Amino acid sequence: MPTSLEKGIALPPLLSQSHSGVPERLLSDSIQAKNRLWANKKTHAKTNKELPILPENISKEEFYNAIAELQGKLGSDNAKVVDTPLDDGWYLEHPNTHDAMHILEDDDLVASAVICPGSTSEVQTVVLWANKYRIPIYPISIGRNFGYGGAAPRLNGGVIVDLGKRMNKILDINPQDCTCLVEPGVTYFALFEEVQARGYQHLMVDVPDLGGGSVVGNALDRGVGYTPYGDHWATHSGLEVVLPNGEVSNLGIVTKMGVTLMPHPGDHEGFAYTFQKESDIAQLAEIIRPLRIAMILENVAQIRHVSVVLAANGKPRSAYYKGKGQIPSDILHEAASKEAFGDCTWIYYGMTYGPKNIRQWKLDLVHKEFMKVPGARQLDPKTLPRDDYFWVRDSVANGVPDINEINWVNWYPNGAHLAFSPIAPVRGTDALKLWEMASSYGNAHGLDLFPAFLVGLREMHLIVEIPYDRNDAEHRLAARKCLEHLINEAAKNGYGEYRTHLVFMDQVANTYSWNNNALMRFNERIKDALDPNGILAPGKSGVWPARFRGRNNAGIGKLEKAPSLKL
Ligand code: ADP
Repeated sequence: MPTSLEKGIALPPLLSQSHSGVPERLLSDSIQAKNRLWANKKTHAKTNKELPILPENISKEEFYNAIAELQGKLGSDNAKVVDTPLDDGWYLEHPNTHDAMHILEDDDLVASAVICPGSTSEVQTVVLWANKYRIPIYPISIGRNFGYGGAAPRLNGGVIVDLGKRMNKILDINPQDCTCLVEPGVTYFALFEEVQARGYQHLMVDVPDLGGGSVVGNALDRGVGYTPYGDHWATHSGLEVVLPNGEVSNLGIVTKMGVTLMPHPGDHEGFAYTFQKESDIAQLAEIIRPLRIAMILENVAQIRHVSVVLAANGKPRSAYYKGKGQIPSDILHEAASKEAFGDCTWIYYGMTYGPKNIRQWKLDLVHKEFMKVPGARQLDPKTLPRDDYFWVRDSVANGVPDINEINWVNWYPNGAHLAFSPIAPVRGTDALKLWEMASSYGNAHGLDLFPAFLVGLREMHLIVEIPYDRNDAEHRLAARKCLEHLINEAAKNGYGEYRTHLVFMDQVANTYSWNNNALMRFNERIKDALDPNGILAPGKSGVWPARFRGRNNAGIGKLEKAPSLKL
């Protein structure tokens, strides 16, 4: 494993240097990831439009005056116009100015300015300022919401309020109550390291796939982790919020959040099974449902497609296949057969917690059920090399945040990804229908897919990451069209997305149209009452304030109507 960067590439920031840095224990992995990404980066992003891209209805002069007014209140370093060339960076050195994984042109979804308040009262100041000038503001905590828009504003020229840069304190960790209180800029990396440093090894932090996201932002966007406390929204314990009119209440910009921490169960044991056929997903969903509801399967159940496991092990697509269109399934099978985990279509990654006798009782039950699927194989972790993806899953399910999930982003040059994220009941028929839908649309658009089924206590997320080369306009368009078609087709079959990229927020919101759009009418009523000037995150989740309503997606991300594909 390389421990130094190629010539001319800067070291990734450490947590000791920056709130969004990486802990020292992951420096070597981060260096390796950065070397790979740089080797895979063919051209750099550039914008054609003149910067700054201004919010609408404000002249350049007025805008600069408004920013100068704010600089007078927050300090000139804390309110900056975005007027220098955009840099996409990478996961650990991500921009807070735009979507680093642009799916539109690289001058769409770009901020006019970035503001970094240092306290709740400064957030109130920013909100009052935005009301005075009618400037749309978009709060981010860290801005690593990759695949869903990153740090970008929904409206081109919106102002980003980067809360994490200066509000990143862990205000409290209570070892008796197993709770903590954090500001927006606290990442999973930071919280985990602090819990360890304070000697609270009896507390477990629930962490998502990558540890660089914020605890606050992930919960607000309904992210999940992989310990028994995986539902982040369900396990938060109170919020402090600045309202769009500047008051502190409970609907607006989150400035503090309480989080419950699980008492660490002590011992743990990762396990994995492989399944041969695509259609096995139907039987698996039926097997998993009762085991999950009874918490025999204790953490979020994960069934990952072999494509993502191969990509996560670090090699780019070109190592397996150089052709156009979707990578053929026999190539994936052949590649899998050369890996320690062997030929398969799906891999289940699980974890049991607690003393040996309790673990064994659950493992035996799981084994008996999983082996009912013809062709199922149990993997012996001892036979898997240290760089196998199994160990990433093992670490995350043990509450230790990791960085190596980033490797699959490298599948294509200039790696980027977009996610199709429907939720469904935990049923075999639903799992199979969604899988067939995703794979046939992916195939029709010539796209490789990285699907994973994630099963909570009463629902199943299918997350299909669609990787693409962000500097290839044709590839970007195919990914957009594929996702647009999938959202439509899923809606026709009764499935909605739990989360989506900025560009698809209107489309997804429109699919929740029951009872003459009762939900949207309700959301709009609340929006107008709380945000009469329409300054806070206009268009977020498809909810537009009155002044922007009915403008055809406000001119951004409008795609032509999707034709129906025959499945
Ligand atoms: P991450 O911490 O994973 O990088 P982001 O900071 O990108 O996540 O936040 C994800 C989304 O959640 C943002 O686009 C924004 O819509 C919302 N969000 C994040 N932080 C806040 C906050 N403090 N208050 C209100 N909304 C927020």
